[in-house]
Amino acid sequence: MVSTKEVIVGIDMGGTSLRALVVNPQNEILAVEKTPTNVAQKPDGLIRDLAALAEDVVRAAGLRKSQLRAVSIGAPGAVDPEHGVVYHAPNLGWDAVPLGAKLGKLLRVPVFAENDVNVGLVGEHVLGAGRGAQDLVGIFAGTGIGGGIILQGQLYLGARGAAAEVGHMIVQVDGPLCGCGNHGCIEALASRTAMERDVRAAIRSGQKSCVLKLMEERGKERMTSSVLQRALRKNDPVMRKVMKRAQYYMGMLVASVVNMLDPECVVIGGGIAERLGESYVAPIRKTAYQNFLRRHDAERVKIVPGTLGDNAGPLGAVILARRRLQK
Ligand SMILES: [Zn+2]
Repeated sequence: MVSTKEVIVGIDMGGTSLRALVVNPQNEILAVEKTPTNVAQKPDGLIRDLAALAEDVVRAAGLRKSQLRAVSIGAPGAVDPEHGVVYHAPNLGWDAVPLGAKLGKLLRVPVFAENDVNVGLVGEHVLGAGRGAQDLVGIFAGTGIGGGIILQGQLYLGARGAAAEVGHMIVQVDGPLCGCGNHGCIEALASRTAMERDVRAAIRSGQKSCVLKLMEERGKERMTSSVLQRALRKNDPVMRKVMKRAQYYMGMLVASVVNMLDPECVVIGGGIAERLGESYVAPIRKTAYQNFLRRHDAERVKIVPGTLGDNAGPLGAVILARRRLQK
């Protein structure tokens, strides 16, 4: 039984959907709600959607709004967690939006905000694949590639809050153009977007592949993780080759990150890992181990798929909110 003011709502603000969980003090999920992200509207419209979603998920759990203690949001882009301001989120078209203050006014409870990748890593650290590690790196591969670092049990944000952008580590000088403007970032080589580009190029050059047919059958314009999984199951030669190369680059990235930070654990999360799990991570781990500078006890660095999937972000947001409320 949940008594008054005990539940917290965690929300992940994705580019395609908003996902909300309501969580009790034992970190049990009481209800989940999802709604599409309408990025065409102005920030105030999206903030109203977030307020409605928070109220919906509380209702779906059979609770009253008065039982809600706080709302905590994982938002894409540069977030100032101290003030709940989203500074730069190109996927949403947001710049300097005071999300915490505005949503707090609508819901009349404290609202916290943190970068979406950081909340995902906190979720995996406290409740998922990274449990027990003091030093942990998260690499989340999907449409793009994001990362987070926990050192001595605390999120490492960097001097300007801009740390852990592992997706933009350059692994191939003069490589393909990245969305950030540089060339050869891991995101431009191993994200789902990069893999789709390579699959399409291979098909254009005359190689046989079932990927476009799978996309058509499933009514998808993009190569989603489920399309990717189906193509691999069908042993599609183009998909296999493109995936193998992406895993190789991911392995080199993990090796570089480990050579620099020597964490106990690297969690590989995001849409691709969620779908493919160990079959995605195993070749990454193998390449990484082969490229550690110190190899004799490589296995002490665990390289594992995330275990919380889509719930990592909202659960991590709830955990961060609880820490902030205790301060
Ligand atoms: Zn980049």
